[in-house]
Formats: sequence, structure tokens, C-alpha cells
Amino acid sequence: EVRVRFAPSPTGPLHIGGVRTALYNYLLARKLGGKMLLRIEDTDQNRFVPGAEDYIRQSLEWCGIQLDESPWVGGPHAPYRQSERKPMYRQYAQQLIDNGYAYYAFDTPEELDAMRARLTAAKVPNPQYNSITRAQMRNSLTLPAEEVAQLLEAGEPYVIRLKVPRKEEVRFNDLIRGWVVVHSSSIDDKVLMKSDGMPTYHLANIVDDHLMEITHVIRGEEWLPSAPLHVLLYRYLGWESTMPQFAHLPLLLKPDGTGKLSKRDGDRLGFPVFPLEWHGKDAETGEPTVSSGYRESGYLPEAFINFLAFLGWNPGSTQELFTMDELVEAFTIERVSKSPARFDQNKVRWYNEQYLRAKPDAELAQYLVESLQAQGQELDAAKAEQIAALVKERATFPTDLAREAQLFFQRPSSYDEQVISKKWNAQVAGALAEFARELPTAADTSPEAIKALLTQVLERQGIKIGQVLQALRVAVTGAAAGPDLMHIMSILGPQETAARLEQAIS
Ligand code: GLU
Repeated sequence: EVRVRFAPSPTGPLHIGGVRTALYNYLLARKLGGKMLLRIEDTDQNRFVPGAEDYIRQSLEWCGIQLDESPWVGGPHAPYRQSERKPMYRQYAQQLIDNGYAYYAFDTPEELDAMRARLTAAKVPNPQYNSITRAQMRNSLTLPAEEVAQLLEAGEPYVIRLKVPRKEEVRFNDLIRGWVVVHSSSIDDKVLMKSDGMPTYHLANIVDDHLMEITHVIRGEEWLPSAPLHVLLYRYLGWESTMPQFAHLPLLLKPDGTGKLSKRDGDRLGFPVFPLEWHGKDAETGEPTVSSGYRESGYLPEAFINFLAFLGWNPGSTQELFTMDELVEAFTIERVSKSPARFDQNKVRWYNEQYLRAKPDAELAQYLVESLQAQGQELDAAKAEQIAALVKERATFPTDLAREAQLFFQRPSSYDEQVISKKWNAQVAGALAEFARELPTAADTSPEAIKALLTQVLERQGIKIGQVLQALRVAVTGAAAGPDLMHIMSILGPQETAARLEQAIS
């Protein structure tokens, strides 16, 4: 059975890269009839941010990413928060020590700093605690066994480090990148267990993926450098035969391609990088901050998800619109790209327009009525539906509907100057006056009938429709552009249209 996991750390709001990781996990699990679980990786208490877990939960709910197992619904491998699993990790660290794959290290922060300073002075490019430098440090590989026993007995603070071999090629087959080969000399002796008895990310992550029977690890590219270390851990714990398959997703770049899209970019670049609005604190000043979210900015979750799916994946066809079910159907890891995906804010707007305009007019009308009501404007359901159907072609966000509908509530208070100076003349004004006189007698007020009446009037006056259309639009709406004019006049009705024409002419 395929089992995947999304394993966020509650260190702040989930950004769109994180949501994409969750989405690809979800799509794969659904596609292959497997399960997806969520695990909260909160072993780093210093970076814990209150509210972050709730935010993650609400974001996934908004996106429609459903979890089979999680801290909130539980499941066969509960608990799903690493802080609640703390007692489970110790034995695995012990097992590694017993088998010679890990060791105690007693170095104080000052000793570690001194080591790094020494290496830096000797121009060692990347100072590490590793197979070479560990020989000069205070650990259970260098100290006599009795002294180690004494230190442990005395309660001396220690960490447990992985004993990474000096010369070994570590390799694994990444589902997206193919064979990844790393020389062990580039890996340091990572801390597995901290002095407070908490496991680090690396140990907890491997132990939990094993115990939770994870078959595929799908995560962001930033974790690729850790993967060789994880392979060593699986091997040393004796779990290599059930090691999950790895898939490291491509980076997300800023719109101009100049670097990784970061959490800070959103408000600076003028688009959200978070699914939901986030109320946080400035890291330096502690002042409250608000970062905008897709939900609050008027994006529909279907549009957001469709957009995200395409940030690093494509179906191999020209189809761009996919519901969640269609994504599940079409998704394969093989079609996830290795190369970075560039964020495109026009594209996410385009998706929103597609999904907004595809909604039933009655639903848009309902939304329109409510938002107008909120600003003290009344509109009956039938009119609202006509207006929504007409103006949706000009809307990107639901709030655009109420804005576009304003022309039905207010007579023009000014007229587009350019059109007036080019298109308005006595002949046009005369023809429009005649049209205004005839309008109230019209029996049929459909857009087609209004157009027929206009054509008739103009024919009598010997003017072509093309000569008056722009002037007519400006007279009725004040603006040079807008939705279909015949529909506008039909919705306004003959009396109101005529009144507006008279106002413009006088
Ligand atoms: N807790 C890690 C994160 O926040 C999970 C990385 C992984 O999926 O292994 O991204």
C-alpha cells in the first residue's frame, strides 16, 4: 500500500511551496489508492510559533486536501505530533550507539566554536564535525570508556552524533532526479539527539517514516542535501529494505527568476505567498504584521490548486483546467519537472477568472446581492442574475462583480472626455434624443429588441450605428468601455435608459 506524508514544522505559516508539496503528496496517494498522513514536526521548540499548526490545518481544508491520518483525526500510528512521540526516539539512538554507528559528544558550545575558528584559520572551506575533526574533540570515540561512563553518570550534558564514514559513496534513486550520488566526506556527523533529550529533525523524521510505514517521501528540493544522511540512517538502523522512495520537488522561483520565492516576497511583490491571511509578528521588532492570503484576496480554492499543480508539473497535453479529481487522474511523478518553476502572478489571476466565470450565474448573483447589501445597496435576485451574467467577463475576483455592477446604480456624474470630443455632435445628439423618446414605448425590452429599435431610429435619421455607439455608451454609462451595451440598456430598462440619455443631452 502506498503511504505518503506531509510533515510540516509549525514554525510559521505554510507558504505556497509547502501547499504544493502537500498537494503532490495528496495527488499521488489518491492516484495510487494509498493513504496520506500529516505529521507535525515540532522537535525544535525554539522555532515553535503558536497558531502555526492551526493555520496548516485550515489551509489544507480550504484547499480540499484531505488527510487520512493526522493529529486532528488520529489514526493507527498516533500520536502524529513529534513532541508527543519523544519517548520513542531514544531507543533508536541507543541502538545506533550500541552498533557503533553513533556516539556521545560532550563538547561545550565554546569548544565547538574554537574548533570552527581553528578550521577557518586553517582555511578549511566548510568547517565540520566529521570523521577527521572528531578525533580532536571530546566524545566517546576519543575518550577512554571509563571517562565516558563517568561523564554520563555525572549527568554531563551530551549530544548523540551519527558516525559518518570517511570514504563512502552514498547513492539513492530519486524519482524526479534519477541517481543522486554523494561522497560521505561532504556529510558531517549530524546531531541526532540534543542535550535536552529531544531528537533532531533527522532522527525523528527517519524513525517516524519507518514506523508510519511511509513508502514515498515527496518534499521540497531544500531537503535534497539531507537525503544521503537519511539513506545512511536507514542503513544503520537496519531498515534499508523498506526505505521509502524519494522525490525532491523543484524550487519555486520569484516571478523574475532571480531566486527562490521566499515567505517575505509576497507583500513586497504584490501577490500573496500564503494560502490564508497570516497574523504574525515582525521577527526583529515584535510588531504585529499581516501577510495577505489567497483566500482573503478573492481567489477560489479550485483556481489556486489548479495553478499550484502546474508549478512544476504538466499533464503533457494542452489542457490547463483541471478539477481536483482530474488532477488525481492525470498526475504522475514522472511528469514532475527537475527544473525550477517560476511563479507567475498573471497565471494565477487567469485561473481565477476561468473558475469564477464558470460558476453558475445564480451563485454569482447570490454573491453579488450579498456584497451589495454589505454596502447598503439592494438588488432583486432576477436582476442580480442578469447583471452577474453580464459583468462576470470583466471580473477576476468576486468583489469585482459589485464594482462592475455600480453602473446600474448610479447615473453618470461625468462623461469620458475623449469620446465626447471625438464622437459627440449635434447630429448624434439629435439621433439619441429621438431614440430616448421612442424607448419608453418599446414592448419588448430584450437586448435584441433594443438593438432593432436603435437601428430603426438611426436609419430614419440617415446615420450608421457605428457613428453613435461610443457616444451612446458614454451617455448611458459615462465610460468609454464596459460590458455589452444592449444588455446594459436592457437591464436598466427603457425608462432609466431614456432618462440617462436626456441627462447626457441636456
Ligand atoms: N519538517 C520538514 C519541513 O518542515 C519536513 C521535511 C521532510 O518532508 O522530510 O519541511
